[in-house]
Amino acid sequence: MRYTPLGKTGLTVSEVGFGGIPIIHLDEGAAVTVLRRAYDSGITFYDTANAYRDSEKKIGRALGDMRDKVVIATKTIIRDAAGATEHLDNSLRMLKTDYIDIYQLHQIAHEKEWEIVTGPCGAMEAVVQAKEKGKIRHIGVTSHNLAMAVKLVKTGMFDTVQFPFNFIEDAAKDELHVAARECGMGILAMKPFAGGVIDNAKIAFKFLREHPDVLPLPGLDSLEHVDEVVSFYEQPNQMTEKDLNLMEKYRNDLGKQFCRRCEYCQPCPQGVMITAAMSYKVVAARMSAKVAVEFCKMPMESVALCIECRECIDRCPYELSIPDILKAHYDLYEQHKAESALTSC
Ligand code: SF4
Ligand code: SF4
Repeated sequence: MRYTPLGKTGLTVSEVGFGGIPIIHLDEGAAVTVLRRAYDSGITFYDTANAYRDSEKKIGRALGDMRDKVVIATKTIIRDAAGATEHLDNSLRMLKTDYIDIYQLHQIAHEKEWEIVTGPCGAMEAVVQAKEKGKIRHIGVTSHNLAMAVKLVKTGMFDTVQFPFNFIEDAAKDELHVAARECGMGILAMKPFAGGVIDNAKIAFKFLREHPDVLPLPGLDSLEHVDEVVSFYEQPNQMTEKDLNLMEKYRNDLGKQFCRRCEYCQPCPQGVMITAAMSYKVVAARMSAKVAVEFCKMPMESVALCIECRECIDRCPYELSIPDILKAHYDLYEQHKAESALTSC
């Protein structure tokens, strides 16, 4: 494993980080074992969020004793100052630490959210104060909306930006990554497997390693998975014609099924949380039915509001049949709800 500067933060991090979502479906002992294997294999960057159920607690338990040897990034999705402060204090407790290296405003996707966050008593006020008090070392932001992410980067208010990046969703490499580099920001890549759609880790990392200043954050939930990802970094990266053709085949096969989370279809006049609900199938594939239902409850319940007006289809650049896909995902969600009710009896 090699180590690299994270933009101009002054932090030095392993070439690959650890995404903290999938450990939520492991029991605490198993999660700690996986996290310690990652640490022993040289991974020094751990990304989690207050919203990822007990992920912070598990990371705190596994890595609390080596706090000064790891970089921890977490996030709040709360938009007001009081709520963000409460989230931050909770994160500090869960992570067994008195500072967060990178505290991110989670998923700022729309102008309205940005106005609330930066308005009077908004979350930005709280994180700036927390930084002054030493509870936060750097402020970051995450988004799934490319235009918004570019805007956020250009505000100059953040030290890092986190956005989806993989060989299917590679739009960030142009304006977003360029702007972030110009500002000296650390660039974090969420969804290196396109949310589970890329089932060939080797090819996924061949692409990612072509962008050495972009730090991938794969979600790792087994010792085998940690060992596999780490093994990719033990050899030089060589992209071949065959690899490029395989990537192209993935892109073509996914065609009109895969939601790239660009959010161009929003807003839905009925308030359906389209992007999150479009990801239900791939998210649920990585966790138990019970956890998937709890994790995705709000967007999936919003699907019931869809009146099939088809306005969103006109706005989707990939011409996805959104209401049909949402309906299929809703049926799966209902099935998972029934299964989890049975297992809780
Ligand atoms: S088809 Fe459904 S999801 Fe799409 S805009 Fe209309 S109500 Fe919203
Ligand atoms: S449904 Fe289409 S427009 Fe909406 S987020 Fe997905 S890819 Fe983008």
